[in-house]
Amino acid sequence: MEEPSFKDLLQLVAMNSGPLESAVELDRSSSLESAKFAAGADVLVKEGYGTFVEAFGQEVMPHVRLNAPVTKISYGASGVSVETATKERFKGRKVLVTVSTGVLASGKIAFEPALPADKREAIAGLPMGLLNKVILEFSTADVFPEDDGAALDNTWVLYGGDLGSREDDMAFVFRPMDTNTAIGFFGGDRAWELEKQPGRGKDAMTKLAVTAMSAMCKCDAGKALVKSRTTAWGSESWTHGAYSAALPGKSAMRGVLAKPVAHQVYFAGEACYNATYNGSFAAAYNSAIQASYTLLRCLKREDGGAPCK
Ligand SMILES: Cc1cc2nc3c(=O)[nH]c(=O)nc-3n(C[C@H](O)[C@H](O)[C@H](O)COP(=O)(O)OP(=O)(O)OC[C@H]3O[C@@H](n4cnc5c(N)ncnc54)[C@H](O)[C@@H]3O)c2cc1C
Repeated sequence: MEEPSFKDLLQLVAMNSGPLESAVELDRSSSLESAKFAAGADVLVKEGYGTFVEAFGQEVMPHVRLNAPVTKISYGASGVSVETATKERFKGRKVLVTVSTGVLASGKIAFEPALPADKREAIAGLPMGLLNKVILEFSTADVFPEDDGAALDNTWVLYGGDLGSREDDMAFVFRPMDTNTAIGFFGGDRAWELEKQPGRGKDAMTKLAVTAMSAMCKCDAGKALVKSRTTAWGSESWTHGAYSAALPGKSAMRGVLAKPVAHQVYFAGEACYNATYNGSFAAAYNSAIQASYTLLRCLKREDGGAPCK
């Protein structure tokens, strides 16, 4: 087969720097953020990320209420009041909001008074992108492609398929943690299209990924497929997407989103951190540490009779 020219591969390269990285199309993605982003190899947790979060937060788990969506946050002279869907009310001096910009933009949480205009602009400037995974388990390692005889385990591999079409463009990570598993990725508009298909796109995503695997291994990967699982972060009501992606010119909005309102409503989460780690666990973690310290400092000052800065 004739080697494709760089021009033939441009669409795939664009796909990799846009939808498969920042989870949105390039024309809706801040180039400043792409330039600053610290890309690197992913560390996978065999038991699943939730297990890690639970273990990490073991100490606070007894105080965590699951399945209790907050519907209203009121703040003012009498303090902060947080109301849940079951009409439970929690009162305090401060609140730290860590929901995604997708949830904030959805209006599922009513703020009273409404959040200031700059905060609303920040939420609008940092919409959620979409990156979905299809995880394929195979009965044999024979289906995994090699590059000049070398295994591609844990390498980010782009698949272009029909180079004239973007419909089958995707990325893969093969044999993570030494398993006969392939993780396929769909990003941006293509991910939204697929997720809208029946079963939140499970069959469509699986079919595309198996076809790609078959083309790469020059074998019938479908025959060795044991099972597949797919994510559907776009229709996940707790996130409304995968992670935030700054619109062109809106990277600085991350700092605006992170600013507390009236020294009462604090914000943290991946969207609140700078572009180095945007859309990542590291961003969520760092912003939470920052916001928590700011909040605690403010409480301390108030306790000492001083205003918060
Ligand atoms: C396909 C995919 C691949 C990814 N790959 C990587 C990767 O390789 N490396 C990496 O570091 N990151 C990766 N990420 C991103 C990472 O998962 C996120 O950046 C991180 O989870 C964001 O954490 P967060 O705490 O800001 O938000 P979330 O994890 O969204 O936490 C917000 C919490 O708020 C809760 N919530 C929502 N609404 C309400 C409400 N009304 N009331 C109360 N609680 C509510 C949610 O249930 C959730 O628990 C990936 C994400 C996706 C989707």
